[in-house]
Amino acid sequence: MIILSIGSNINASENITKALSLLSTKFTITTQSSFYKTEPVGYENQEWFLNMVVVIETDLDPHSLLETLQEIETELGRERTTQNGPRTCDLDILLYKSKIIKENNLTIPHPRLHERNFVLVPLAEIAPNIRHPVFQKSITQLQEECKDTKEVHKTL
Ligand code: AMP
Repeated sequence: MIILSIGSNINASENITKALSLLSTKFTITTQSSFYKTEPVGYENQEWFLNMVVVIETDLDPHSLLETLQEIETELGRERTTQNGPRTCDLDILLYKSKIIKENNLTIPHPRLHERNFVLVPLAEIAPNIRHPVFQKSITQLQEECKDTKEVHKTL
């Protein structure tokens, strides 16, 4: 499975909806999680985020996929200012089948996947049994071991 995470904290609901619609013009979205309201990590004096994850099908290799995601981020008006600061849309590759990639501009599985409730909770909703190819653990196991105390609430 190829799994992406989507996050926003500026007009979040509108921007995530736009991101989903742009993604669906380029890929087949086979599964999507609920939307989650999540407490910001890192730079805390900002709006809560909306986060979700999607499973997609694509023939693009991981690097071309990253390029396409960055084009979509740009189209949605992303400006890279404060690190971990407010953003219209953040698109990350969480998992690309069982591939392991460690390069300067691309790390798969996403290097912070296992550390963040805002990724693990939606991921556990749609793929609890998928195995993390580096840690060789299921998402459920990673979630049990995760020390993150940030709040994540499923929205209706
Ligand atoms: P961010 O500002 O958090 O969106 O980080 C974007 C940067 O992370 C880009 O320069 C990407 O090249 C890099 N990056 C590394 N691994 C990944 C990944 N798995 N998914 C998305 N971006 C990644």
